[in-house]
Amino acid sequence: MRKIVLASNNKHKVKEIKEILSDIELLTLNDIGFNEEIDETGTTFLENALIKAETVSNFLKNNNLDYDVLSDDSGLSCIALDGKPGVYSARYASDHDIKLNRTKLINDLKDKDKKAYFNCTLVLYHIDGKYEYAEGKTYGTIIEEEKGDTSFGYDCIFLSDDLKKTFGEATEQEKNSVSHRFRALKQIKKYL
Ligand code: IMP
Repeated sequence: MRKIVLASNNKHKVKEIKEILSDIELLTLNDIGFNEEIDETGTTFLENALIKAETVSNFLKNNNLDYDVLSDDSGLSCIALDGKPGVYSARYASDHDIKLNRTKLINDLKDKDKKAYFNCTLVLYHIDGKYEYAEGKTYGTIIEEEKGDTSFGYDCIFLSDDLKKTFGEATEQEKNSVSHRFRALKQIKKYL
């Protein structure tokens, strides 16, 4: 089986992807000795996922390693905010304090429709520069009071339409059965 490198330093994403793709051998950036920061300068999820995948693939090529790369760019989009924070989800108010990002979002949504969805775009990038991609979405409502685990992004204020509880309150298995990441992985799996 081909080895696949997961182009993400986000430990929450890595954990979720490893659990969902438990039958595939995945290497982390740490495993291949990649420790550069990647600037996400794209304006769409696909552009950013491609930037991450190409950067890591070039690193592999320079080190004579012939592995595929799987990258994930994801975020939360609110209908009433024309899709914001979207690609800027990780740095909506601050790039290091997710609590500030959640507070800004709650404030921006005051007296507005709170419908939102998570989007995950995955790119499977091959050493010859060819790639496949897939997108997954999951719908819900933003709530003002945090509920459940506050560690990963917007999970604790995202009340899932499917689960009728926040992603912060859901077990890993529950979240992984309806999440944007799971839905995108299900599609990309046919290329693995
Ligand atoms: P990026 O893909 O590295 O640009 O980061 C996406 C950002 O979107 C994360 O830092 C989180 O704030 C948010 N995000 C993406 N997926 C999830 C999720 O499954 N739960 C909670 N927040 C998420």
